[in-house]
Amino acid sequence: MFKKILIANRGEIALRIQRACRELGIKSVVVYSEADRDAKYVRLADEAVCIGPAPSAQSYLSMPAIIATAEVTDAEAIHPGYGFLSENADFAERVERSGFTFIGPTPESIRLMGDKVSAKQAMIRAGVPCVPGSEGALPEDPKEIIKIARSVGYPVIIKAAGGGGGRGMRVVHTEAALVHAVQTTRAEAGAAFGNPEVYMEKFLENPRHVEIQVLADTFKNAVWLGERDCSMQRRHQKIIEEAPAPGIPRRTIERVGDRCAAACKKMGYRGAGTFEFLYENGEFYFIEMNTRVQVEHPVTEMVTGIDIVQQQIKIAAGEKLPFTQRQIELKGHAIECRINAEDPNKFTPSPGRITMWHAPGGPGVRVDSHAYTNYFVPPNYDSMIGKIIVHGDTREQALARMRIALSETVVEGIQTNIPLHRELMADAKFIEGGTSIHYLEGWMAARKR
Ligand code: ADP
Repeated sequence: MFKKILIANRGEIALRIQRACRELGIKSVVVYSEADRDAKYVRLADEAVCIGPAPSAQSYLSMPAIIATAEVTDAEAIHPGYGFLSENADFAERVERSGFTFIGPTPESIRLMGDKVSAKQAMIRAGVPCVPGSEGALPEDPKEIIKIARSVGYPVIIKAAGGGGGRGMRVVHTEAALVHAVQTTRAEAGAAFGNPEVYMEKFLENPRHVEIQVLADTFKNAVWLGERDCSMQRRHQKIIEEAPAPGIPRRTIERVGDRCAAACKKMGYRGAGTFEFLYENGEFYFIEMNTRVQVEHPVTEMVTGIDIVQQQIKIAAGEKLPFTQRQIELKGHAIECRINAEDPNKFTPSPGRITMWHAPGGPGVRVDSHAYTNYFVPPNYDSMIGKIIVHGDTREQALARMRIALSETVVEGIQTNIPLHRELMADAKFIEGGTSIHYLEGWMAARKR
């Protein structure tokens, strides 16, 4: 096992990885920017190194700064967390070439899945069901594009091969708007992701977002750890996640879960990963794979009892998965609310000093957060300041525990989306379960009227 790991991230996930290291008896080094000097993960660290100024490009995205820090601190492995460099194949490659272990999949796997066109093609080969659409990237010829859209059927969605974070997508309802939409998305994708390639998918009108968590070791063992329903989204970004997904027959989920585990074996995938699907009319359609730990991994940890971050570290250290698929049991129900420093109505960021922070507690309640009273939320990064996760024997109990947890939570000095979560936990449709990815937007619009 490693003696020391460098954590190339910030915020709650840096703290989460630090805790996993501690439990495994591994020392950890954290890196931080000048804006994060007073962050909790820095204060609690075994070792902390400032790697640059606030802008991510000069700190958390600086490969030379991170690798040099690993060298001077004698770290053996680097955990990238999520976001930042976690899905950057060049970074994984540079880490390994510099003699460190990258805690994640091979650069080849990251590259294959990082391009959504090649990812989809790999999934089709592995027998994972995909959203119908163009086979590969769209051609230049407008006539060809029109022909493809006719065979897919309107509405269609044009998506950037290199897209991510809910950006680089455009829905098209009519043939008249098609070619212009493709051109615009191409131009945007080129500017934002350095890759102008786009592809086409059928736009599913009312799907749910359901994803499968996988773990694979370097001995060709792969398992899936149940699913997560992440349909509650704003601007294509998740705010509530739960496991299991309410109302979907177990057999349907088992079929797709087994396909995901089989695909991992076929691809020689290693580490943790997530297969994201849209679910509509009883069918699963693959949209993308994330080759890293997800923000919402705790809900899976709560229902399986498996520590996903510790497993990532053990797999990277060359250990075999300690369980088989049959030994994985899902118990009860878990829900996560992402707490964002933002205006709950307009979703605009609300950075600043937290004058009062009180986290909830009690049976089945977990809080993953780097915030505390007097913590300054910097404006430079993602607005998420923590996650409240609850577990119950049933969904009803989990919902009740989340309501209590939210009522106990106090955050003063900045705006957060806690009032929105409180309302959603009391919403009849959400309580019923199974709302689609468009539900929250419709609900917000109706409330405004
Ligand atoms: P990203 O990498 O930017 O997160 P995804 O491919 O995962 O992009 O899609 C993000 C979100 O966009 C999905 O959760 C869903 O809300 C919406 N979306 C993507 N593809 C489709 C589709 N074919 N039909 C309907 N909605 C879609």
